[in-house]
Amino acid sequence: MEGALIARDRVGVQDFVLLDSHTSETAFLNNLRKRYQENLIYTYIGTLLVSVNPYKELDIYTVTQMQLYRGVNFFELPPHLYAIADNAYRVMCSEYNNHFILISGESGAGKTEASKKILQYYAVTCPTTEQLQIVRDRLLLSNPVLEAFGNAKTLRNDNSSRFGKYMDIQFDFKGAPVGGHILSYLIEKSRVVHQNHGERNFHIFYQLLEGGDKDLLCWLGLERNPQKYAYLIQGRCAKVFSINDKNDWKIVRKAFSIIDFTEKDVEHLFGIVASVLHLGNIQFEEDSNGHAIIRDGTQIKWISKLLGVHLSILQESLTNRKIEARSEEVLSPLNVDLAFYARDAVAKAIYGRTFTWLVNKINGSLANKEDYGVGWKITVVSLSPAAWSVLIHNTDLYCDWNLAPKNLEMARKRSSSKTFLFFFSSFKWEPIPYFNNKIICDLVEQKHKGIISILDEECLRPGEATDLSFLEKLEEKVGDHAHFVTRKLADQKTRKSIDWVDFRLLHYAGEVTYCAVGSFSLPPFQVLCNSKNGIIRECFLLSELDNRRRPETVATQFKNSLMSLIEILMSKEPSYVRCIKPNENKEPGKFDDYLIRHQVKYLGLMEHLRVRRAGFAYRRKYELFLQRYKSLCPATWPHWHGPAAEGVERLIKHIGYKPEEYKLGRTKIFIRFPKTLFATEDAFEF
Ligand code: ATP
Ligand code: MG
Repeated sequence: MEGALIARDRVGVQDFVLLDSHTSETAFLNNLRKRYQENLIYTYIGTLLVSVNPYKELDIYTVTQMQLYRGVNFFELPPHLYAIADNAYRVMCSEYNNHFILISGESGAGKTEASKKILQYYAVTCPTTEQLQIVRDRLLLSNPVLEAFGNAKTLRNDNSSRFGKYMDIQFDFKGAPVGGHILSYLIEKSRVVHQNHGERNFHIFYQLLEGGDKDLLCWLGLERNPQKYAYLIQGRCAKVFSINDKNDWKIVRKAFSIIDFTEKDVEHLFGIVASVLHLGNIQFEEDSNGHAIIRDGTQIKWISKLLGVHLSILQESLTNRKIEARSEEVLSPLNVDLAFYARDAVAKAIYGRTFTWLVNKINGSLANKEDYGVGWKITVVSLSPAAWSVLIHNTDLYCDWNLAPKNLEMARKRSSSKTFLFFFSSFKWEPIPYFNNKIICDLVEQKHKGIISILDEECLRPGEATDLSFLEKLEEKVGDHAHFVTRKLADQKTRKSIDWVDFRLLHYAGEVTYCAVGSFSLPPFQVLCNSKNGIIRECFLLSELDNRRRPETVATQFKNSLMSLIEILMSKEPSYVRCIKPNENKEPGKFDDYLIRHQVKYLGLMEHLRVRRAGFAYRRKYELFLQRYKSLCPATWPHWHGPAAEGVERLIKHIGYKPEEYKLGRTKIFIRFPKTLFATEDAFEF
C-alpha cells in the first residue's frame, strides 16, 4: 500500500476518479502529464479510457501483453486499450448482445491506431480454427487497403483517414470472430484533384509509382516520377520522411490476394488509379470560337484504353455539356474553365465511387460465407470532431443512467434549446450547463431550413443547380447565421473563382471548412456505364440516370448513419476511448498544455469525471450482478427464485456494502467506487 502511494506521486493515478474530490482542470492535466512522461499513455475515468498519443513505439502491444489482459477484471491491471477491448468482448459474450467501442479525438490523436490495436487484440486472443484464420487475416489486411485508398498525408497527420468508418467484427456463439463488415462514409473526394501546401493526395498514387514494377507502370502508361503528375504535386511534398511507399505497396499487393481480389479486379483497379493521374494531366485550350479543345491527345488515349471507353465519346464528354431541351439532348460546348472543372469532376467521381466499390468488395470477402452462425458483433467507430459535435448534441451520452426517466424528460423539456449533461446526487437530477451545440446542429440539420435540406433541394434540380447556385441559396437562407461563414467569390468569371468555393461552420471544437465544389456535376454516365473496365461499369449504372429523383445526397446518408449510431448509443452502453493529441509537431514526449487543455474541454472529460464521480460509475444489471456474485451469500446460493433486484439487495447486505457506496436503480445496481467492486471480486476469487 505504501509502495503504491509513492508510485502514485510519480506516475499519477490510473483512474481520474481517484483524484481528490474537487478536481480542477489543472490537477487533471497534471495527472495526465505525469503519466505521459512515464510513458503511461492510458488513464481511466471510470470505464472510459483516455489515451494520449505517444508518437513513438511503446512496448505495450506485444502478444504477452494481450494474453495478460485476457479475461482479467477491468481494474486489476494498468489501464490499456486491451482492457477496453477485453471488457467489450466479455460483456458481449456474457450479456448476449452487441457492443460498441466509440473512439473520438482530433486528427492525429490516434483513433485509427487504437482501432487497429483493438482488432489485433481480437485476432490474437479470441478462439479460432484453421478455417477461421482466413477471416482473421482478411480482417487485419482490409486495413492497409482501406488506408492506401482512403488515407493521406495532411499537415496534422501523416496518415490521416479521409473517410469515416464503422467496423463490425462479427463473432459466433462461441466468441470466435467469423466475419466483418465495414461502413464507410464521406470520402474526401476533393483531395483527388487538389491538395493544400504540405499535403498529399491519397497514399495509393505514390505507392503505385514508387512500388509498382516496370512492366505494370509501362502497361498503365505511367512514369515513376510523381513530379510528372499535376494531381500529385500541388502540396509540394510527394516524398514524406515518415512514409515508406514502396514497402506499403508490397503490403497492399499482398492484401489484395488474401482479400480475394482476382487479377482482373486488381488490373481494373490500377487502370482507374492511373486514369485519374492521366486525367489530371489533360490540358485544354481555346479554339477560334472560344470553346475548349484538348491540347494533347496522349493522356486521353491512355484513359480510353485503361477504362475501356470510346475515345471520341470521352473527348466529347470532357469538352461539352449535355442539356435536356424539350426532351431532346443537345450538346453545349464548354469554355476552357468549365472543361477543367468537368475534368476534375470526372476524376473525383471515378475515385469516390471506386472507393465505395472497394469497401463493398472487402465486405464481400469478410462476409461470413461458411455460415458459422453469427451471434453478436462489436462495432468500432471512430469519430472526427465535426461528427462528434453533432453526436454530442443528439445524445445525452450520459443518460443511460436508468434512474428517474421522468425527471430526465422534464429536465430535457426545461433545457429545450441547450444541451445539458446530467448527473445525479442523492437521487436528484441536476442539469450542468454543458455547451450549446443545438444552434449549429439546427443550422446543419433543420428540416427545410438547414444546410442539408438546402443541398437536397438543389439536388432535385439536375442540370440547373450548380455549386454556385447552392452557395447563393446558402447565403440567402443561412448567410446571417452567427456560425456560418462563406468565402465570397472574387471574380465569378475566372476558373479560380469557381474552384475551392467553400463555406465554414464554427463548430464547438473549432472551425471546419466545407467545400461546395462538385456537389452538382454529374459524371458523363453514358461514356462510363459502357466501360469495358468492370469496376467502372459497376460504379456507374445507367439506371441512375433514369431516376427522376436522384439518390440521397451523401450528406443525407451521413446524417442517417449518424442517426442510427445515436439510436444505438441511446439503447446500449458503449465503451469509450478518447484520444488526445499531445502536440502539433508529431513529436514524442512533448506535452503541450495549451493544446491538451483545449481537447480535455471539448472531449468533455471534466464533465465526464464529475458525472462518474457523482454518478456511481460502475453499474451492472441486477441479473448479471446476481449471477456473478450469488455464491457469496447463502440466501442467493445456489439459486435465487425471487426478483433479481431483491436478490441483489440481500446479497449486498450480506457482503456489507455501506449505503454511500451503492444505489439501486430500476434495473441495475450502481457502485460508486472501484474499490468496492474490487473487494467483491476478491471475495469472489477466494
Ligand atoms: P485522423 O483523424 O487524421 O485520421 P487519427 O486520430 O486516426 O487521425 P492516427 O492516424 O491513429 O490518428 O495517429 C497518428 C499517428 O500517431 C500514427 O500514424 C502514429 O505514428 C502515431 N500514433 C498514434 N497512436 C499511437 C500509439 N498508440 N503508439 C504509437 N504511435 C501512435
Ligand atoms: Mg485516422
